[in-house]
Amino acid sequence: MTQSLETRMLDTHDTNDAVIKISSLCKWFGQFKVLTDVDLEVRKGERVVICGPSGSGKSTLIRCINRLEEHQSGHIWVNGLEMTDNIKNIEAIRRNIGMVFQSFNLFPHLTVLENLTLGPTLVRQMKKKDADALAMQFLEKVCIPEQAHKYPLQLSGGQQQRVAIARSLCMEPEIMLFDEPTSALDPEMIKEVLDTMIELADSGMTMIVVTHEMGFARTVANNVVLMADGQIVETGPPESFFGNPQHERTRTFLDQIL
Ligand code: ADP
Ligand code: MG
Repeated sequence: MTQSLETRMLDTHDTNDAVIKISSLCKWFGQFKVLTDVDLEVRKGERVVICGPSGSGKSTLIRCINRLEEHQSGHIWVNGLEMTDNIKNIEAIRRNIGMVFQSFNLFPHLTVLENLTLGPTLVRQMKKKDADALAMQFLEKVCIPEQAHKYPLQLSGGQQQRVAIARSLCMEPEIMLFDEPTSALDPEMIKEVLDTMIELADSGMTMIVVTHEMGFARTVANNVVLMADGQIVETGPPESFFGNPQHERTRTFLDQIL
């Protein structure tokens, strides 16, 4: 994905090769401090897995990265460009950051193919024929080209989530954010979605994945992050995070979920 000229023309910050750099991030919902002094760096092609108890701020953190949520202090840079109130090209940045949610968020009244071509035709101004070809290419990639003309609700949960991933990929993003992509799935469908994500990781995609699938974290992550009470408690490569956690909180958390 080429960085848009628009982005490059604005003042940029040297983030030392980090595609995403988060520094001293704090966020409140009213009086409630949901994120406290979060620091995180993700370099091109890196995969970061974020885990932690429910309510610890994982979704809020990744939603701040594409400014679905606004933070009150600290900094977030995406490709050296700071996410602030007066950001002018938020749409260009969002286009470069795909997001996959727990609840698929497909348009039920559109076919699978139409779900995939909507962004490319509306936002990227692609011709319908080219958008169809691109969409079919990504449906092949997630192994469900034969579902192109069905409606989302005619598909299994695992297939719907693969459609959601393919839909994000149709925007040809540089970064993919996943927020508990397999939490709403029946156990037998989790693997097909994780396999799709592993393939994406192998293709070199920069990914931040909120998940409790620790097998996935061990296989795919460069870094695993534990969040609790809005703070990063521990971060490290899977070998040390699982093999030799430094914090009691990490040990307790891992004992609960493994
Ligand atoms: P996680 O994804 O780790 O479960 P969230 O980021 O969703 O955690 O939420 C962190 C905390 O912030 C929770 O206590 C949640 O209730 C609260 N919260 C999340 N979104 C909002 C909101 N829009 N308004 C107020 N509180 C919120
Ligand atoms: Mg969440």
